[in-house]
Amino acid sequence: MSISKEIDTYVLRTPLRYSVEANVRSLTSLLNRLAARDHSSAEDLERLATELSGRYFGGRLRPQSIRWVTNQNVSRWASTTTSTGDIRVSHRLQSVPRWVLETVIVHELVHLQIGEHSKEFHALADRHPRQAEAKLYLEGFSAGEHFSRGN
Ligand SMILES: [Zn+2]
Repeated sequence: MSISKEIDTYVLRTPLRYSVEANVRSLTSLLNRLAARDHSSAEDLERLATELSGRYFGGRLRPQSIRWVTNQNVSRWASTTTSTGDIRVSHRLQSVPRWVLETVIVHELVHLQIGEHSKEFHALADRHPRQAEAKLYLEGFSAGEHFSRGN
């Protein structure tokens, strides 16, 4: 098996009988490490959550854990388990600009405190000034993913 980079695309070469499906987790993490964007590692995600909590919530909203997951339901970008304080972020967001990822993390940080999308919820989440813009970005990003899958 080999991976090479051609301009902005990774090319994976495997024997015909190699199952990409069976190895999708390790391949995903391998590709993620290769992509090495400024926010793609687990440590970076934790650092970003801490930074955003400090910037918008006086450091008050801190997850118990925050990490990338590859098994997120396709329609969701991230999820928070309020009872445990665990935040899970879809690996699909590893390729979006940092400000978009920030709005998603801020949204989930607020869920640590408020479960439903109430008025107070949005008042807190909108402390990040680009929430509305990010929503549009993510709608387009999602549509693009569908398009490239041929759906
Ligand atoms: Zn939500």
